[in-house]
Amino acid sequence: MIITDTHTHLYSEAFDEDRVAIVDKALSEGVERFFIPAIDSTYTQRMLDLEQLYPEHVFLMMGLHPTHVKENYEEELVHVSKMLLEHKFYAVGEIGIDLYWEKNFFKQQQLAFQRQIRLAKEHKLPIVIHCREAFEEIFEVLEDEKGVDLRGIFHCFTGTLEQAKRAISYNMKLGIGGVVTFKNGKIDTFLNQIDLKHIVLETDAPYLAPTPYRGKRNESSYIVEVLEKIAFLYNKDAEEIASITTANSKDIFGV
Ligand SMILES: [Zn+2]
Repeated sequence: MIITDTHTHLYSEAFDEDRVAIVDKALSEGVERFFIPAIDSTYTQRMLDLEQLYPEHVFLMMGLHPTHVKENYEEELVHVSKMLLEHKFYAVGEIGIDLYWEKNFFKQQQLAFQRQIRLAKEHKLPIVIHCREAFEEIFEVLEDEKGVDLRGIFHCFTGTLEQAKRAISYNMKLGIGGVVTFKNGKIDTFLNQIDLKHIVLETDAPYLAPTPYRGKRNESSYIVEVLEKIAFLYNKDAEEIASITTANSKDIFGV
């Protein structure tokens, strides 16, 4: 059984004390593919170091996270463009709009999102979207950019069934993580109405740990809790869910 964590910040400071142990633990649980979203230029070297440590298992993305879109966002976007030319990345992410943590830079977030979608298209890469309290604002941009060259993942999907269908209509898969295991997470009430071909698994480690680890530091091995919850919701074996969602991740990332 090969499980794919499509969204994990393994380079985060949260793992500085025990990174190797955390990755090895995940590997021993069958989590063999780690897709690593970027945040901003200050993390690039950490990401490259991680890739060097686990070249068979680690697949990097490049992008500017919406909560890190600040006064210097133009410079940050130059860094993203430059890195995309210099190094192999598997997606542009995570990118999007976040109106929960940051409202002051809304216009800049919108611009940065659109420009990075265009970069992804130029490089024929998928995008990985971060959306927090911004479904309509994100959909507005996707509506402008939709087409066969637009595809990717709606990371940490926590919307309604209608929003799920709309995301899928833009060639997005739904990244499902710890929230599906929460008592009040809501997505568990309708998820099985969505074909499994649209679903990928993720942790968003070190954030959003699934039950029974809720509130603690999340890690990639905890994806097993997400896998089991999805197996329960779809009434299938965990093995089958792992295999379908890993195949879906290969479809998107091309690896
Ligand atoms: Zn993330």
